[in-house]
Amino acid sequence: MSASLLLTLAFAAALVAGLGTKFWLDSRQVRHVARHRDAVPPAFAATVSLASHQKAADYTLAKARLGMLETAVATAILLGWTLLGGLDALNQALLALLGPGMGQQLALLAAFAAIGGLLDLPFSLYRTFVLEERFGFNKTTFGLWIADLVKGTLLGAVIGLPLAALILWLMGAAGSLWWLWAWGVWMGFNLLLLVIYPTFIAPLFNKFQPLSDEALVTRVTALMKRCGFSAKGFYVMDGSRRSAHANAYFTGFGAAKRVVFYDTLLAKLSPGEVDAVLAHELGHFKHKHIIQRIVGLFAMSLAGFALLGWLSSQVWFYTGLGVRPNLQGANDALALLLFLVAVPSFTFFISPLFAALSRKHEFEADAYAASQADARDLGSALLKLYEDNASTLTPDPVFVGFYYSHPPASQRLARLGIHGLEGTA
Ligand SMILES: [Zn+2]
Repeated sequence: MSASLLLTLAFAAALVAGLGTKFWLDSRQVRHVARHRDAVPPAFAATVSLASHQKAADYTLAKARLGMLETAVATAILLGWTLLGGLDALNQALLALLGPGMGQQLALLAAFAAIGGLLDLPFSLYRTFVLEERFGFNKTTFGLWIADLVKGTLLGAVIGLPLAALILWLMGAAGSLWWLWAWGVWMGFNLLLLVIYPTFIAPLFNKFQPLSDEALVTRVTALMKRCGFSAKGFYVMDGSRRSAHANAYFTGFGAAKRVVFYDTLLAKLSPGEVDAVLAHELGHFKHKHIIQRIVGLFAMSLAGFALLGWLSSQVWFYTGLGVRPNLQGANDALALLLFLVAVPSFTFFISPLFAALSRKHEFEADAYAASQADARDLGSALLKLYEDNASTLTPDPVFVGFYYSHPPASQRLARLGIHGLEGTA
């Protein structure tokens, strides 16, 4: 059997297995949540109303059903790009139009991104204006949604095209170790993004105002000092412009470090609870989760670039995925795109490992928060956030194992040694 046919079969098998696994997981989640919809779990009977328990169940069911449709459509699109010849047709059309060269390669990347973005638009619209709207989470207007889309696309083009041009140039000019150079560029870009995101990019989409509540500033400053951190500032972000979902984060490097609270979070939590949520975020830093995650991404992308370096010079890599390579000229943009669309079909099966690691980190951050702030405050804050985000208290355990980056509320509260929470909500 030829290497090309072998790749086609392996890819098709991964697609079918992935589709089957995702449908199986979603249908497990739907059945499990529906079965527990009629009663609040006993541990939460005193603190969670039946109405909010059922809202969470309905929201989870609606998301899981939409997820099944999205999975089916995404698999069809992936097949269309690869084995059914979509990417090949796009490449040949642009070759006929522009001839070989850097211009054609950049046009291929841009056209692929534009078509992918257009195909995702119906889902994005539905998610925001139908699903989130129905459960009372959507706060964005159609005008703001369009403005976000335009800004996001322009930003993607301004940042993405020069970066893509640099990587394509390295692929063509840097010899057989081009992937090592390209990896260096990619890592430098990611580090730069970490530095410029909070100060330059996030303000394009949201307003950030210094936290003006003096009592809260004093309180969180004391917490940070106790934990051995300093911040350049505390900010409140107008998250309520788009969504009722609440959050807080600690971001940036060195002097750019800042703490950001969503206005929606401050509106819902007491000062003690805000303290506990911030202590949880600090716990991620204390346990070096952030740096571990960055080092992990560095290592995985090095492996990815090395693999791409090898695959991009194999004819079967193209033909096995439904594309005719150009035997005289460069195929670098083609190789990049094929790699980006095909690899997730294989890596999907190891994603539970990363989800499990993330959940372990959440438990560690919770334990740290309980040692630096009040565990009961953290418990009641978590419960409020889970309830406000309509996160179900009764997810399917296998679905959780595969997908959840954060443990379900029941497990987090149990680890904190809080079961009943009587009188705290
Ligand atoms: Zn966390």
